[in-house]
Amino acid sequence: MKLLEGKNVIITGASRGIGTGIAQVFAENGANVAFTYSSSEAPALALEKELEAKGVKAKAYKSNAASFSESEALVAKVLEDFGGAIDVLINNAGITKDNLLMRMAEEDFDSVIEINLKSVFNMTKAVQRTMLKQRKGSIINMSSVVGVKGNAGQTNYAASKAGMIGFTKSVALELGSRNIRCNAIAPGFIETEMTEKLDEKVVQGWRNGIPLKRGGSTEDIANACLFFASDLSAYVTGQVLNVDGGMLT
Ligand code: NAP
Repeated sequence: MKLLEGKNVIITGASRGIGTGIAQVFAENGANVAFTYSSSEAPALALEKELEAKGVKAKAYKSNAASFSESEALVAKVLEDFGGAIDVLINNAGITKDNLLMRMAEEDFDSVIEINLKSVFNMTKAVQRTMLKQRKGSIINMSSVVGVKGNAGQTNYAASKAGMIGFTKSVALELGSRNIRCNAIAPGFIETEMTEKLDEKVVQGWRNGIPLKRGGSTEDIANACLFFASDLSAYVTGQVLNVDGGMLT
């Protein structure tokens, strides 16, 4: 029996990077995967086909996680398409708009908070009723080590990721009595398209500073999600798991 056999999962922002890695690992573990993107349609449709080939139900949806109404409509459509149950929500969609505070434009602060943090409110609220009725659910929020320790040049991003941790712990307290668990993952330096934009010398410096001496892979994060999504973590809620090669140690 696969760990997520027949479970319905929603992943936001899975057209590339960590989201794609989670979708692949979840499909291999028997989950039906509904996932979103905001603009990358071609890779999203390719991923849909790739997941279906693994023998599960999979569907890509264009939906802006920062929009409350689009998130509500998305969840209604997923419920219709996937047979009325949502077992797992992964709030993964995120962006960076880095700058020193002195140079940071108001719109760059606002858009990062809306896409990274407000999205978590939108999506969690949208699935809440279904999970309450089921008396079961697992919500996983993709925070960051930066949300735990801060980072110069990322006030907007760090604030959004720290906000996700407070949100996670509060949802765990509110919904625990209904068997709905909520946990966060704080990835360290994971090598994806988001990090490809960075200077190679800087990246090598980061790798050298990590106790395990390498950047993480999307699979490293997907495996942590697998733990939180499955019954292996049935007695774990309100936690933040650093998946960072020891970076914060
Ligand atoms: P990525 O490669 O840039 O992918 C981001 C994903 O989010 C894409 O699928 C993108 O879809 C989607 N997205 C962006 N804005 C969206 C919106 N408004 N609505 C719906 N989807 C949206 O990023 P990543 O590196 O995989 O990161 C994934 C998550 O992990 C993020 O929350 C990030 O903050 C977090 N994280 C990453 C690292 C790292 O080192 N990579 C470290 C710590 C935490 P489109 O292409 O269609 O816009």
